[in-house]
Amino acid sequence: MADRGSEGSDRRRIGVYVCHCGGNISDVVDVEAVAARAGADEDVVVAWHLQFMCSDEGQSTIEQDVRELGLDRVVVAACTPSLHETTFRRVVARAGLNPYLYQHANIREQVSWAHVHDQAAATEKAARLVEAAIAKAALLRELDEVRVDAVHRTLVVGGGVAGLRAALDLARWGMPVVLVERSNELGGHVLRLGRTYPTDEPGRALIERLVSQVRDEPLVEVRLSTEVCQVTGYVGDFHVGLRAVREETDGHPCDEEVEVGAIVVATGFRDHEPARGRYGFGHPRVVTLADYQRRLYAAEGEADPARALGIDGPVRAIAFLHCVGSRQVEGVDEPGASGRLNTYCSRVCCTATVRAAAETRRRFPAVRVVDVYRDIRTYARDQEQEYRRAGEAGVVFVRVPTDERATVEPAPREDPYPLLVRTRDTLTFGAELEVPVDLVVLATAMEPGPVEDLVAMTKAPTGADGFLLEVHPKLRPVESAIPGILLAGTARGPMDIAESTTSASAAAAKVATLLAGDQVEMEPFVARVDLSRCRGSGECVATCPYPGAVGLQDVELDEGVVVPRAYVNPVACKGCGACVAVCPNGAVDVQGWEMSQYLAMVDAITADPAGFPRAIDPSEVTTG
Ligand code: SF4
Ligand code: SF4
Ligand code: SF4
Repeated sequence: MADRGSEGSDRRRIGVYVCHCGGNISDVVDVEAVAARAGADEDVVVAWHLQFMCSDEGQSTIEQDVRELGLDRVVVAACTPSLHETTFRRVVARAGLNPYLYQHANIREQVSWAHVHDQAAATEKAARLVEAAIAKAALLRELDEVRVDAVHRTLVVGGGVAGLRAALDLARWGMPVVLVERSNELGGHVLRLGRTYPTDEPGRALIERLVSQVRDEPLVEVRLSTEVCQVTGYVGDFHVGLRAVREETDGHPCDEEVEVGAIVVATGFRDHEPARGRYGFGHPRVVTLADYQRRLYAAEGEADPARALGIDGPVRAIAFLHCVGSRQVEGVDEPGASGRLNTYCSRVCCTATVRAAAETRRRFPAVRVVDVYRDIRTYARDQEQEYRRAGEAGVVFVRVPTDERATVEPAPREDPYPLLVRTRDTLTFGAELEVPVDLVVLATAMEPGPVEDLVAMTKAPTGADGFLLEVHPKLRPVESAIPGILLAGTARGPMDIAESTTSASAAAAKVATLLAGDQVEMEPFVARVDLSRCRGSGECVATCPYPGAVGLQDVELDEGVVVPRAYVNPVACKGCGACVAVCPNGAVDVQGWEMSQYLAMVDAITADPAGFPRAIDPSEVTTG
């Protein structure tokens, strides 16, 4: 059993608070019984169960107990720590305790939501998780945030609409910006869009307006045809190598280094390119939606569809195909160049497709338009109207079964139309359809942009879909797991222009807050070396995935002997714990997550050999 270090008269004074979450937890878990079990622990001074711990009442209960009962540790059992751990740390700090003398137990996502059909087992699991949290809390130490001097400059990677927006916002917050763009012009995909949603402003006009604002901004330094070739350092003080883009970059060294406090990644997306022959791709009469939009809006006054669209021959019928390269299904679709299936929805293509289809009908009323879809997902506010308007404009909708795909083939030579779209239509009870058309438009997927190198340099994680991963989609949607690396626009996943610019503004605001003071504060969950145990063998250095986080330095022992010993750079350390696992002498621990704390938790969870479930007798204990 791990030593709690609180035996005898010198016991801990822990307060435990079990949340009902308005029924989210208490409808499944017997919170009264959980509080009663917690209250039986010798180190627990008070154990409450309350409706909403995150409410003012919940927070002030903790504050009051810390002050009046002299609590020295606090445990809250509630929702996921990513939602409210920081909230409760702040409460503890307001009450005058070190904020790291707080421990959180998740009994909502990990218990009541996961075991909704077994209330007894859920209650038992919750009680054990709370006991484990109490055991860890008893061993918590006071910790201080890691502080690092902040460089008041930001690097924005990517000069598309999100990168431009982020750079402009940062400059307006008074923050110098270096904006790097791999191509030789700013604007990205939007530059080549026809009209944008919902304002109908041409993509080029939107970009030109943004670019001129950026160019007028003295705090923004734009570097075209430039790429990032090295990233070292940490939040507040990144050292980023830049070099000119060349055909052959192998062995080509970084040209210069810039020092920045934060990095905004706005590297955008890539258009999916279907395999040749799939959906007729490669045939001159099969185009992508982006290409079609460019053609449609290029010659707005032209009434003849063939001339307007740049098609050699008559244009009498057009088919639009949704979900090309998106929402792929194993056994039905083939993986692309990345080797994985794009199972996600690209989110913007339904609205863009029905708008283009409706616009085609309005401009060329004689052209028949067929829209072939699996589901229509015009998801954002007011976008459902675009679907309705397309129907009113005379677009004919055909719905393909979800596990089937429409095919596009060249028609026999004698046919009047060059292409045949074949599909079944669930709207007409599975009727087999053969639609002769002059042109096929493919709504292709948005795929992750070229971020492989940047990911390797920064260790910023990507999701299973290959897009850069945010810490939490709702609570921290523009932060990567690497402090100081923010995500803007479609680098994070498919989104439309409005969402891209909003996320870019959010990333800029995050940076402005982060670098507002002279120093950046980081959580103290970093490795710590016990020099009395370290033998300088260096396994930690060889294993650590983060450059500069741990190293060896000479240390003089009492007898004047100089030996190598490990040291940790707390600003570079990410607290991943890899060094803890490999140290043969048990000399490294991660602060706030020490091995002794883990062991105490395991002991608490497995304490009752009598088995599961354990009887709870609330009458035996006194609770608050
Ligand atoms: Fe729900 Fe978490 Fe608030 Fe409790 S603290 S009410 S579990 S959201
Ligand atoms: Fe398919 Fe529509 Fe989603 Fe695009 S937005 S992937 S077309 S369902
Ligand atoms: Fe390196 Fe991880 Fe150990 Fe920190 S905790 S020194 S990042 S291995």
